[in-house]
Amino acid sequence: MDVFVCAGCGAELTAPVSRVALPVHTHHGAWEELHPPLMEPATYAVDPRPTGPPWRRWEEVGEEAAARQGVYTRVYSVSFGARNRIVIAPGDSRSMTLIPDRCDGYCRGVDGRAGPNLACEGCGRAVATRMDDCGMWQTVWLEPDAVVRRPSGRPAGPPPGWDDLRDPEHRVPPVEPDGSLSRRWEAALGVALAHLVAVTEDRPVVLPAGPVSDLFGHAVARCLPAGPGARSVGLAGPGIHPPPPRPDVLLVPRHPLTGAPWRPPGDDGAVVPLDSGVWAYLVHPGETSPVPATGLLPEGVLRDDYPLPPCPGDRPMPHRRAFADTLAGLPEIRSPRLRRFREGDR
Ligand SMILES: [Zn+2]
Repeated sequence: MDVFVCAGCGAELTAPVSRVALPVHTHHGAWEELHPPLMEPATYAVDPRPTGPPWRRWEEVGEEAAARQGVYTRVYSVSFGARNRIVIAPGDSRSMTLIPDRCDGYCRGVDGRAGPNLACEGCGRAVATRMDDCGMWQTVWLEPDAVVRRPSGRPAGPPPGWDDLRDPEHRVPPVEPDGSLSRRWEAALGVALAHLVAVTEDRPVVLPAGPVSDLFGHAVARCLPAGPGARSVGLAGPGIHPPPPRPDVLLVPRHPLTGAPWRPPGDDGAVVPLDSGVWAYLVHPGETSPVPATGLLPEGVLRDDYPLPPCPGDRPMPHRRAFADTLAGLPEIRSPRLRRFREGDR
């Protein structure tokens, strides 16, 4: 396992952590809600894209400079923050203290709008940003230039791999144990829809019957047109091969360590990468239901430790900003066929 130390004084700024893929829902929390930590304990991830301040307005940036930042259509503002910022759970941070005049937030926490708000206790350098305001998954982001990664001396377990997707613990059901809709699912759905729009160039699709249709169908119907010439969609991944011929689009999991989409050997056709936990649920639905599968309580006995089943018709809706931000980050958004999704053209 690794630790991150201060580049200035060498103080250890994290507990021992191991790398995993950047969660799909990293930047997409639910409006006005408090969220749990983004990262599991003892893990870290790296965001290759520029994130955080300074933000510059689209009018000042222009199309070419925005594209270099990974933004391919008009948005309100473009991040010129560092690439490769490192995200950990707040509980894995060590020897850092808040910088009082950088602790602004919207209402219930800090959001890092003024740049790094955590200083190294050893030397006082600004090294990281805590973000825990409403609408944000709780995180601490280490500035890549302010820290150095070192071996911790503690042995790491096997790195995350495709086999992990068979673990029932890996599956993310669309409904939380308390009966509420999963915010992670809604973000994953928004991101997946953006990829589906991009690879189909806004054409109709036919989803496979079963959980994909049940859980994606309503969102796809709102987003993509109906009509002839529909593209076929199928689930595929490690151990899961759709019946031939190959569907036009494969819904595949992202690798738990690299985040790269799974691909059948030798195949370079269209794929839509999914949050691996969401993919694992679609492949094994119903095996993680928090609702007892059999049996009923005796009449007159009231229990409050089982969740209520979700209301009929209550299905996860795609996160709107996750959809829009993901699509803005895909070069395909420049296609004339996707004009209706470009903010500047509306
Ligand atoms: Zn230091």
